Amino acid sequence: QKYVYDFTEGNKDQKDLLGGKGANLAEMTNLGLPVPPGFTITTEACKAYLDTGREPAGLAEQITARLAALEAAMGKRLGDPDDPLLVSVRSGAKFSMPGMMETVLNVGLNDRSVVGLSAQAGGNDRFAWDSYRRLIQMFGKTVCEVPGEEFEHALDEAKSAKGVTNDLDLDADDLRALVDAYKKIFSKHTGREFPQEPREQLDLAIHAVFESWNAERAILYRRQERIPADLGTAVNVVAMVFGNLGPDSGTGVAFTRDPASGAQGIYGDYLANAQGEDVVAGIRNTVPLQELERLDKKSYDELLSIMARLEGHYKDLCDIEFTIERGKLWMLQTRVGKRTAAAAFVIAGQLVDEGLIDLDEALHRVNGAQLAQLMFPRFQLDHEFQPVATGIGASPGAASGKVVFTSARAVELAAEGESVILVRRETNPDDLNGMIAAQGILTSRGGKTSHAAVVARGMGKTCVSGADEIEVNVPAKRFTVAGQTVGEGDVVSIDGTTGKVYLGEVPVMPSEVVQYSEGSLDPEHVDNALVRAVHRIMTHADGKRRLAVRTNADTGADAARARRFGAEGIGLCRTEHMFLGDRKELVERLILARGADEREAALAALLPLQRADFVEIFREMDGLPVTVRLIDPPLHEFLPPLEQLAVNVAVAQERGEDVAKEEALLAAVRRMHEENPMLGLRGVRLGLVIPGLFAMQVRAIVEAAVACAQRGGDPRPEIMVPLVGAVQELETVRAEAEKIIEEVTREKAVEVLIGTMIEVPRAALTAGQIAEAAQFFSFGTNDLTQMGWGFSRDDVEGAFFWRYLELGIFGISPFESIDRDGVGRLVRIAAEEGRAARPGLKLGVCGEHGGDPDSVHFFHEVGLDYVSCSPFRVPVARLEAGRAAI
Ligand code: ADP
Ligand code: MG
Ligand code: MG
Repeated sequence: QKYVYDFTEGNKDQKDLLGGKGANLAEMTNLGLPVPPGFTITTEACKAYLDTGREPAGLAEQITARLAALEAAMGKRLGDPDDPLLVSVRSGAKFSMPGMMETVLNVGLNDRSVVGLSAQAGGNDRFAWDSYRRLIQMFGKTVCEVPGEEFEHALDEAKSAKGVTNDLDLDADDLRALVDAYKKIFSKHTGREFPQEPREQLDLAIHAVFESWNAERAILYRRQERIPADLGTAVNVVAMVFGNLGPDSGTGVAFTRDPASGAQGIYGDYLANAQGEDVVAGIRNTVPLQELERLDKKSYDELLSIMARLEGHYKDLCDIEFTIERGKLWMLQTRVGKRTAAAAFVIAGQLVDEGLIDLDEALHRVNGAQLAQLMFPRFQLDHEFQPVATGIGASPGAASGKVVFTSARAVELAAEGESVILVRRETNPDDLNGMIAAQGILTSRGGKTSHAAVVARGMGKTCVSGADEIEVNVPAKRFTVAGQTVGEGDVVSIDGTTGKVYLGEVPVMPSEVVQYSEGSLDPEHVDNALVRAVHRIMTHADGKRRLAVRTNADTGADAARARRFGAEGIGLCRTEHMFLGDRKELVERLILARGADEREAALAALLPLQRADFVEIFREMDGLPVTVRLIDPPLHEFLPPLEQLAVNVAVAQERGEDVAKEEALLAAVRRMHEENPMLGLRGVRLGLVIPGLFAMQVRAIVEAAVACAQRGGDPRPEIMVPLVGAVQELETVRAEAEKIIEEVTREKAVEVLIGTMIEVPRAALTAGQIAEAAQFFSFGTNDLTQMGWGFSRDDVEGAFFWRYLELGIFGISPFESIDRDGVGRLVRIAAEEGRAARPGLKLGVCGEHGGDPDSVHFFHEVGLDYVSCSPFRVPVARLEAGRAAI
């Protein structure tokens, strides 16, 4: 098996095998860009190594052969004492996991080759010893698990002994001494000398990269980002080029467009006389990339032309890493760059304008999760709030919360339900837990490409980075800014779009995308690139989608709002809220009724109230279908809880009051108590057991529709029976309902459909029979999931889902995203058999899944007619339905 590929052998589509970094290094090599030569060890080799704990057979020989070819090409031998070839050993998985895994630079240096390196660099001792101390540091930390702080501490000591603060002020002698100190640290922790044999260094570094796939933080990151755990990482071995050779050398990162806003133009950070990781780590302050034009015009121009070429080639925003060695530009990495939700829309729109992609492709490049993010509220600022600091808007959003300084404290407070803002000088991969727990992240150092910025953008978390007016003191748990001290627990607000930091809690307002979606911002006339891009892509999605999008709404106000968001009807109008508030008393009367007269009186009192509710809803949804679900929950939910009632009765008795009514109520509550109310007297069962209840609701619906029609409206009621498991249940309810419909619509003809929810597994499995009696199906995927898995929706999520997620039994809660294999199969069966029995049967879904992007794609595939979701998710569902259709 071939485990090792030269950069000339691969291409960008081989990410599975070569990892993202390796595939793109190969692509750039084959485009003729200046990439240092090297080779990639495949993810297959990594997986084999992780399975067995050993290199697979043949790997060592293949590395030897490739290394020999690399040495020949470079005219140097790895670690040669006189003129050493040095290499970097870099991780690179299929999906980018910024900073999660390991890279070791300068492999091949030892006590002898450090001298040769200096000689080859024209007697540049400082450079050679700087490179050597970096190797021991990185190798020690990543390959041999030596605590990194010890090296940092020794470096700080060397600087303070000399009375300097900048790494660059250490000279060759200082660095030589530092190498000695590092070696001692190394052998103290590992019990061995720092390995001098270059090939041994290389092999150990390769193994360490393999193993870094299973580092704790990498596992955590994959879980968060839903990256499969079994992909493995490739390893890239790349000839070193040196940005730390002097002031005419340097290293940087860049984006071909602004990854935060999507604005055109190049963005990046540059650091002279430095090696790769210095830029990202925020160790020294970088300069904006534009400065490079002044420092080294030739390299700058070449960089710009390469970036333009890459964008044209990848037809997308690219991010790159580069190094300049004595005025010669080298490309060290590129990939299609991560971006914020706003930038995703804006860039997709721009690329269409530039003719690089079409609108279908633009629709592919964005997703519902991003749109949902853009619908978050923003800060509402007035003169009262003045920013105390301005950093870089690294990841947008508006977040307020209590300040914390450590990851552990963030996790602690978040678990207590607090919003927290994690404040750090800069973050590192060990802060991941705290970043997940926090509402937002604020750092005083680092640019748009710092660890905090990259990871926060990936998580969709608000982040302000590099707010350098802030002095963070982690041990003392406080920061100072503008003469004020802010301690742990004080509230701050950060704006990840503008980079501004405020003390106290700033109120929020709706986002522009929401204003647009609601129709209060006209995309043709607003000077807002984001709104225009969203409009364009949404319009395209609406034109392409086959699924209609309805909303779940129980009131006229919700219905109106959803309609502004683009809802094409109501997929679920729950009637139980109409039994709450003052009306509870009427429900009590119904439950306590002795005999038919009392019951009918109670129902008669409820009728006009329900009718008025429906009139309002039909009016708001005029001309569009409205699916009304007959009452679903167990009736005792409308009665006071048992304990409370018992106490009330006892207290009243004590006072000698008349408690006849309360006692009757208490008796009723006792009588109606159920061990498993969710599997008890609810849904259609109520209709079959309580005479007149469904009839009253049907009458209210149809009378409301007739009233609207008489006023010239176009009501389209659909009556939906919940919890049906057998066709006979539906037939019984339907026969009663049809009589009422016939009677009421004699005055004015209105078409009323009668259908059922499919939410009991038996209903799905007998859908062919049920379709004989139903004019439509609506999948109640919440109950279908609950009963399909046997999970109590109200109990399981906190109780044991974490373990199920850990074990990978599912990757995401089946209540959040539809379980395609199980519950989804029930949907598929019911859709097919229902339509076979009744061609053209209308099919929809009204569970929470209707607004979940993945589930929307599934419902499209199964051939449903519509999804229904909460008003706020309607635009998300529209977008995803469009994406599903292309
Ligand atoms: P990451 O995936 O964390 O970015 P990389 O493998 O890209 O890790 O390497 C870390 C840093 O080292 C980057 O800044 C990169 O540009 C730099 N680097 C990697 N290989 C080389 C090399 N052969 N010569 C010079 N710099 C390198
Ligand atoms: Mg990199
Ligand atoms: Mg249900």
